[in-house]
Amino acid sequence: MTTNGLGTTEGSAPPYALGPDHAADRDRADPLARFRERFYTQPDRIYLDGNSLGLASRDAEAAVLAALDDWKRFGIDGWLGGERPWFYLAEELGALEAELVGASPDELVVTGSTTVNLHSLVSTFYRPSGARTRILADELTFPSDVYALASQVRLRGYHPDEHLVLVRSRDGRTLDESDVVEAMTDEIALVVLPTVLYRSGQLLDVERVTRAARERGIPIGWDCAHSVGAVPHRLHEWGVDFAFWCTYKYLNGGPGAVGSLFVHERHFGTMPALAGWWGHHKDRQFDMTLDFEPAPGAGAWQIGTPPVLGAAALYGSLAMFREAGLERVRAKSLDQTGYLMYLIDELLSPLGFAVGTPREAWRRGGHVALEHPDAVRIARALKQRGAIPDFGRQT
Ligand SMILES: *Cc1c(COP(=O)(O)O)cnc(C)c1O
Repeated sequence: MTTNGLGTTEGSAPPYALGPDHAADRDRADPLARFRERFYTQPDRIYLDGNSLGLASRDAEAAVLAALDDWKRFGIDGWLGGERPWFYLAEELGALEAELVGASPDELVVTGSTTVNLHSLVSTFYRPSGARTRILADELTFPSDVYALASQVRLRGYHPDEHLVLVRSRDGRTLDESDVVEAMTDEIALVVLPTVLYRSGQLLDVERVTRAARERGIPIGWDCAHSVGAVPHRLHEWGVDFAFWCTYKYLNGGPGAVGSLFVHERHFGTMPALAGWWGHHKDRQFDMTLDFEPAPGAGAWQIGTPPVLGAAALYGSLAMFREAGLERVRAKSLDQTGYLMYLIDELLSPLGFAVGTPREAWRRGGHVALEHPDAVRIARALKQRGAIPDFGRQT
């Protein structure tokens, strides 16, 4: 058994075989197969883009309709009345999500979006002082993260060329954790990295990198957009300072769904840099005093009113995750992506395709990167034939 904490077990290679009969056998043996009917799928489509936008489920739809109904029936009283009072929605959903990332319920809140939460958390945890003035990130991360981090550096009067340090990739696909650790010098004030790289699907050794940052006294935050709902996490146990993600990819929360953030409990009581009334202590939020009293948990990092109708989808989606069990989702995902890589090796590699994702189970997230020099045209042709991939340009 191999594990980096995020990954689950890596057993001996399952016996894959070519042909549709083998695929049908696998479907019959799949303990999660029944969940397929809970999603809206199109008969003539093969949807392979859940890592960019998860499909709509009947469960999420029902939860949104229930919130809409409360709006119709209760108007403003929906905040404290109705089936699920909206006033507690962000904390309640946070508690439901907590088990997916190994957090305690008050370390997690559903709010903002990936990039907005990054800004809010980095504003708080980037505290340049003395020689420690730089942010460490990586060159393969999602561009939005780099835009945001560069602007955070500028906000403090520095220049990103000097103060935003990007760990280089050796192969253009993956990061070497040793390179990341080596870059944690005495000049680094904060580390922000993705758990899973959005193009290659490499899963970083979050536990190891977090430990290295903490040993050097550097706060570390993780962008979990591509790992939440696909792989188990132990954010609390690993001592991660903060984390943030969206819920519209593997969590199937819907287009533009509200994001989430995690703040380790050792930071409770820290004043959020970007305060707003929704981060106020809930018991006294409506006292409307001008003195900001932060909520005792991660809820303090909320800024304004949550988007209730959209966020409601998560009640349905997270309940489904609880029913299915993330460990089983991860096991199926590793098995399916293993099978996919086998098929690529057998059928596509003679045609010039390559797998860009690390092979080891503990080094990959929930998707497989297929590489080809003519990928733009191939992706377009696949779409025309009803198979929906995601497409990412190699830099
Ligand atoms: C999808 C994704 C984002 C998207 O940011 P939004 O603010 O939700 O638009 C950011 N970072 C990573 C790593 C992502 O995968």
